[in-house]
Amino acid sequence: MGGIQAGEILSNLERSDMPNRPFIVGNWKMNGLRSQMAEARAIDRGAARHVGVRVAVAPPFTLIAAMAEDAHAIAVGGQDCHQQQSGAFTGDISAAMLKDAGATFVIVGHSERRAMHGETDAVVKAKAEAALEAGLEIIVCVGETEAQRDAGQAEAVVCAQLDGSLPVGEGAAPRLTVAYEPVWAIGTGRVASPADVAAMHGAIRARLATLFGEEGAEISILYGGSVNAGNAAELLATDEVGGALVGGASLTAESFLAIVAAALPQAD
Ligand code: PEP
Repeated sequence: MGGIQAGEILSNLERSDMPNRPFIVGNWKMNGLRSQMAEARAIDRGAARHVGVRVAVAPPFTLIAAMAEDAHAIAVGGQDCHQQQSGAFTGDISAAMLKDAGATFVIVGHSERRAMHGETDAVVKAKAEAALEAGLEIIVCVGETEAQRDAGQAEAVVCAQLDGSLPVGEGAAPRLTVAYEPVWAIGTGRVASPADVAAMHGAIRARLATLFGEEGAEISILYGGSVNAGNAAELLATDEVGGALVGGASLTAESFLAIVAAALPQAD
């Protein structure tokens, strides 16, 4: 495929233009200095060549504005926000600030936030509601620990997280994406089997139908946990997998765009 002319670039920012595109989201976590903006620009150029896939990156707060200013084909978002829009919360960032910096979405409830910052389902829900209030889309993360899976509690744990973390008010569903990320698969190189992913995504889909009725069928469910270029195609072809939330492999354009390319067969 040849180079894309400026006027031909189809925006990856709008969900409504091609609603069923696979959604591939990079979570840079606490990685990324201004010197790595070249990677972001390369990801953006690659995304412009893969308009059948919706591509997004959540860099650290410090890079959101610069990345959003440069972006033509990727959405740029935050990795967390505070549940209040402003006030005496030293060191925190509100959803309104993310929006002001150029973010169009925010991830809430990542297992690293839940485990390291003590975020409960109620806190995650309050953050999700604040983000919607500020006009952002939201990616709400859920996932069981290894001990919970070994105890046969994985689906019950994830469904309880959905019940407690998801905002269910009017207008929430069209701006909501759910990311299923088994905690034991994040950053470990261990990936859930396609059969386990299909079973869990099926359970999540059923819960979304209970919570949102017909709108629940349209909510994208991403898989996250050690997704890379080698395993992406199989995971993305699994039932009810609408895309991927990618940590480590999203840090370079080469590895992230390989995952974006692997999503293309699902886009046909
Ligand atoms: C994540 O942090 O959301 C994640 C899935 O990380 P990794 O891809 O590195 O496992």
